[in-house]
Amino acid sequence: MTEQHQFQAEVGRLLDIVANALYSNKDVFLRELISNSSDACDRLRYAAITDEKLAKDIVSDYAIRLVIDTEPRTLTVIDNGIGMTHDDLINNLGTIAHSGTSKLIEEMGKSENNDAIDLIGKFGVGFYAAFMVADKIEVLTRKAGDKKAWLWISDGKGAYTIEEATKNECGTEITLHIKEDASDYLLEDKLKQVVKTYSDHIDFPVYFGKEVDGSAESLNSASALWTRSKKDIKEEEYNEFYHHVSGGMDMDKPWLTLHWRAEGAIEYSNLIFIPTMKPFDLYDPKREHGVKLYVKRVYITDGVEGLIPPFLRFLKGVVDSQDLPLNISREVLQNNPVVNKISSAITKRILEELRKKAEKDPEEFAEFWDLFGAVIKEGLYDAHQYREALNKVVRFKSSNSDKLVSLDEYIERMPEGQQHIYYISGSDLESLQNSPQLEGYKAKNIEVLFMTDTIDEFWLPVAYDYKQKSFKSVTKGTAEELNKVVSDNKDKKKAQTSQEIDDTAKNMACLITKLKEIIGDQVKDVCISQRLVDSPVCLIAQDSGIDIHMERILKKNQGYEDLSKRVLEINAEHPVIIKLQTLIANNSSPKTIEDTAWLLLDQARIIEGDPLPNPTEFTKRMARLMENSLL
Ligand code: ADP
Repeated sequence: MTEQHQFQAEVGRLLDIVANALYSNKDVFLRELISNSSDACDRLRYAAITDEKLAKDIVSDYAIRLVIDTEPRTLTVIDNGIGMTHDDLINNLGTIAHSGTSKLIEEMGKSENNDAIDLIGKFGVGFYAAFMVADKIEVLTRKAGDKKAWLWISDGKGAYTIEEATKNECGTEITLHIKEDASDYLLEDKLKQVVKTYSDHIDFPVYFGKEVDGSAESLNSASALWTRSKKDIKEEEYNEFYHHVSGGMDMDKPWLTLHWRAEGAIEYSNLIFIPTMKPFDLYDPKREHGVKLYVKRVYITDGVEGLIPPFLRFLKGVVDSQDLPLNISREVLQNNPVVNKISSAITKRILEELRKKAEKDPEEFAEFWDLFGAVIKEGLYDAHQYREALNKVVRFKSSNSDKLVSLDEYIERMPEGQQHIYYISGSDLESLQNSPQLEGYKAKNIEVLFMTDTIDEFWLPVAYDYKQKSFKSVTKGTAEELNKVVSDNKDKKKAQTSQEIDDTAKNMACLITKLKEIIGDQVKDVCISQRLVDSPVCLIAQDSGIDIHMERILKKNQGYEDLSKRVLEINAEHPVIIKLQTLIANNSSPKTIEDTAWLLLDQARIIEGDPLPNPTEFTKRMARLMENSLL
């Protein structure tokens, strides 16, 4: 009996894209099929270690074979891997299992945006790429340990059929009916060249022809790339292996390739890549890291929790352990002491490599940081064991230069007397750069780090001191310690003695009392600022309160009510403040005094990006003041 099935809508969409020749380079379809066959052999090799029944089903050495038939123009890719059941066929070749990918395709379906279509090339279309060169595909497969075999047939136009079939050996045979314009793939030489280019690193031999006699030579090197010596591996080979482990990303090349072998207390080798593109699901909480675990060259599983810390979840590649038992179950891998040791060794080494790269090539590092910096900083929040190493890797934008700055550079540049590592946080770099709260720091040549990632609000409150300097927000607490900093900028803001500060406060006392009378219920306090130079006012969070930006994040994400009031700081040297003080002292123009008080507060709110509680009143007051000044 032949069953009729429709492809899931997303697969249909994907097939349309494939038909429109997504890749200019059609050769990659073979890479995808061989990569799948290799995974299937990997999976059977692991499964057979613990399952007698499966072990009995293996009748020949693992291999992948390519067979050509010029009449009726077919190319068949044969493997003796794990094979598929009837339901596997439906789930794997009729739907897109990966939720992220199907979401992406759904998005693409909505827009006619060509960029989005280009995007899919990044994720690889896997098996479906074969429809670039074939107008009909047959998949004959039998799952290891099962008796029944199945034949799946499709022309890639929305539907497929499945029927029962017979097959002696477990595994999968994929027969492509080659299109007229793809006749190249019926030539032995062409196939040899494609295998050598794209699949040389595949751990299983790829043979040409159905029957293999003992003397047949494989088309590829058939040795796991990570077991080979670094000096014998060409860059292209690394790149191809990267495509294989990262799921066929086509346009992406690794930003960094890390290949080493550890010997001693724990033995492992690894070949790990840092991508040059951001995975689209980087912030999906369900996302696993992309490092596969092998034990003595046998593939065990993907995404082992604890092997790679979440702050390095963008890594792709392979770790091969010599110390774990082959028949280890996936469940036992979590919290396994060997896995933990490997994880810690790899993490330290990778952070060390990143540190070196950042120092040697800051420009390239900046590109990496732009993509993954926010993820790395998650480690500052929850991976305290790597704190030292992370502190050497993290980089920040700052008020001093356009280039990223490291914590060490920041500390080196500190003027004498500076006690803290200052930062300002917010989501928008440009408004941070223009924040009034920065003025006093700029005037004293004190560098302020810009924190624009959401994660910053989480690690900063729990940050440990770095080189005895604590992190301090410039929008929080008093800025009295600014007076301790010795600055070369003599003409700007000069240091005040505590006597001078007291004197100004006294002079301004009646102004402050008046302001509190008018806007007192809107703010926590009104006081003289040590940090303002050019602006008349700004808002500050209390020392014990949460930072202004953090509060905004909580409000947005948790429906957190605005509970804490801010402190309004005033610049005692600003002409507006001085004139206002005179008006108050002379007890004249009460309406103007009131309007000015409110406008100053609203001004401080606007610059913070806070909504005005009463825009109508704001405009009325503004109009009155304009009217008075337009004499
Ligand atoms: P991907 O390989 O990225 O998962 P594919 O579309 O290439 O995506 O394949 C989908 C799934 O079909 C694979 O994950 C695998 O489960 C199954 N599959 C494909 N080819 C084979 C094969 N030769 N043997 C066994 N399973 C296969």
